Amino acid sequence: MSSAVAMEATRRRQRLSSNGEASETTEEPAGQWGRAWEVDWFSLSAVILLLCTAPFLVFFFVMVCDQYQCSVSQPLVELYSGEVTLRSIWEKAPSFTWTAAQIYTIWVSFQVVLYMCVPDITHKFLPGYAGGVQDGARTPAGLINKYEINGLQSWLITHALWYANAQFFHWFSPTIIFDNWIPLLWCTNILGYAVSTFAFVKAYLFPTNAEDCKFTGNVFYNYMMGIEFNPRIGKWFDFKLFFNGRPGIVAWTLINLSYAAKQQELYGYVTNSMILVNVLQAIYVLDFFWNEAWYLKTIDICHDHFGWYLGWGDCVWLPFLYTLQGLYLVYNPVQLSTAHAAAVLLLGLVGYYVFRSTNHQKDLFRRTEGKCSIWGKKPTFIECAYRSGDGGLHHSKLMTSGFWGVARHLNYTGDLMGSLAYCAACGFGHIHPYFYIVYMTILLVHRCVRDEHRCSSKYGKDWKRYTDAVPYRLLPGIF
Ligand code: NDP
Repeated sequence: MSSAVAMEATRRRQRLSSNGEASETTEEPAGQWGRAWEVDWFSLSAVILLLCTAPFLVFFFVMVCDQYQCSVSQPLVELYSGEVTLRSIWEKAPSFTWTAAQIYTIWVSFQVVLYMCVPDITHKFLPGYAGGVQDGARTPAGLINKYEINGLQSWLITHALWYANAQFFHWFSPTIIFDNWIPLLWCTNILGYAVSTFAFVKAYLFPTNAEDCKFTGNVFYNYMMGIEFNPRIGKWFDFKLFFNGRPGIVAWTLINLSYAAKQQELYGYVTNSMILVNVLQAIYVLDFFWNEAWYLKTIDICHDHFGWYLGWGDCVWLPFLYTLQGLYLVYNPVQLSTAHAAAVLLLGLVGYYVFRSTNHQKDLFRRTEGKCSIWGKKPTFIECAYRSGDGGLHHSKLMTSGFWGVARHLNYTGDLMGSLAYCAACGFGHIHPYFYIVYMTILLVHRCVRDEHRCSSKYGKDWKRYTDAVPYRLLPGIF
């Protein structure tokens, strides 16, 4: 379908009654949910600012470790005093190499093969694990997509091979990722921009489901926030699921292992801070893959369209900036006191508990349609109704008990506690590793506002009843 037809289809939609007859025509989508249809000047400025600065920010945080021992202020001071220039910094940075291109091509191809060609078998023998073919959430146009959930299996195979190589085969050094880090940055950027641009063009020329496309009329916003909701190639290659989970999140734990191997190579030991970062982040990554079917019901998959924000973000931002702590510790091998290490571990584990339990409660509640036990009692909830883009009327429930009765986004609060723990594991010598908690706070507070705006549009007065019943967002009594 051409873009004009797609726009027309999404903008001027005929609401169909249950027997399929047109009952009403509307200029707006029946279910006003998902990302924005119109762009205000503030959103547009933010989009352009991000498009222009985010790639340089990633380069900056990686470059300062390579050239300034991870000091964030020193390059700025030297630039200000004229000791260095932007050009001299740029010229000192390692450039693109064919070795890095080969590594990255093999890596991404391998993840594509694992994703597309190895159907999940782990769900057959791992009790409690939901893998194999699973349903996604209903899209704004009313579709329910099917997904092959095999992320845990891909993670296990990849890490088994990594271990086998390090222990027995020695095809490559375990420090390979660290040793090619900046050249790899250029390769990930090439893929990030290629995939975002491809998704953008595809949305105009051959969208997977034109009914779920959103055009705002602003090219920058469309490029960044995406037009297609669930772009796919063929029946199974889902862009969102693939790029979000692999190659970035599978790589996360390998990147950390590569950093630990580099510490061992440089200093002859691995610090307790590096072990803490590896362990806490591995729990988070494994949690993600163990719960990949649950992930199909999160905002990334249920509401975000696939544009530069997800495409470039998953390829570049995530692997480079989510792993800053390990990178920092290669250059600054901090050995924590036992008390400090224990406090970090406790914060990380409590944060993880709050994050996981909150997410689990919602998942259980939604799966059983409220017929479950939360904190030993039947959950309380608010019944709500909404319309999908095809005009169909649907019903849903918003839980008001358990963690969801304490605040509206305690899963974010738990995530932030965990994020703070990764940063605190690096000691207090530099602000570099703390970028992550600053970023996560902005991300999750913004996400909270975005989500609430969307839920309010989706559920109308029922959402208001929910916010009256649960008045706080992240911190009861404060926000
Ligand atoms: P949520 O899992 O909180 O999902 C929000 C959705 O849940 C809402 O849009 C609504 O969807 C539904 N909902 C809201 N309130 C209730 C309620 N009381 N009862 C039942 N359903 C409700 O958000 P995310 O998808 O953003 O996050 C999932 C997890 O992923 C979080 O723990 C977050 O911390 C983490 N995350 C991590 C990131 C990272 O980079 N590390 C990035 C983003 C998220 P509906 O329309 O179905 O009603």
